[in-house]
Amino acid sequence: MAYKIKDTTCIACGACVCECPNHAISSQDFASVIDPAKCTECVGFFAEPQCVSVCPIPGTCIINQDLPRYAAV
Ligand code: SF4
Repeated sequence: MAYKIKDTTCIACGACVCECPNHAISSQDFASVIDPAKCTECVGFFAEPQCVSVCPIPGTCIINQDLPRYAAV
């Protein structure tokens, strides 16, 4: 699984972009976007997902329920 950013609440501040250890987040015009192929839910890097930790809008960075949970190997 990966996290995703709700484009309805993201203010495109970009705070999360440089915090992601996997460089999975890119800034777009109106919202930041997480590449699910790169997101590892911060497993192995941090106890908490960094995008969630730094996002100023609670509930904007959320688990993408459409994908299986990330499993570290
Ligand atoms: Fe990057 Fe971690 Fe957020 Fe995934 S959960 S996008 S790895 S900061």
